[in-house]
Amino acid sequence: MGWRRTHDELDELVAMLPPLPEPWDVAELCRRLADQRKRPLLLHPIDLPALPFGLWYDDGERDHVLYRSGVTGYHRDHVVLHEICHLLARHNTTRAFTFEDLVENAARNRFDTRQEELAEMFASRVLKSARRPAPVGEVEQRAREVFGTV
Ligand SMILES: [Zn+2]
Repeated sequence: MGWRRTHDELDELVAMLPPLPEPWDVAELCRRLADQRKRPLLLHPIDLPALPFGLWYDDGERDHVLYRSGVTGYHRDHVVLHEICHLLARHNTTRAFTFEDLVENAARNRFDTRQEELAEMFASRVLKSARRPAPVGEVEQRAREVFGTV
């Protein structure tokens, strides 16, 4: 899969987002996205080390984005946006009707590398264009370095 194709797909996915909140607020973006898609989108901080940092699933009526409750600030926003990319691109739609289904699916249903790269690029791109408040501390600073965005 060539770079150009990935680039075009990234542009299309970013264009599916509603206007970014100013100042930046990932929860507000999710509310706007839910309104735009006329479909509930719920954010759930969870404390479950067995799961990856973030997870998206579709319960048939609503979309859910789970993220580790210990993850905050820039890193949390990055995780949430990564999952939103999978949601918008309909990567391997996972339907989970119970929490057990969800955990089982999460263990089995891995996205392919290209989808993962696309989701990472999407999250970085959105955070780059968002007007974020100044960084608060060392942890956020480190997250910025790890994720390579300004
Ligand atoms: Zn992913």
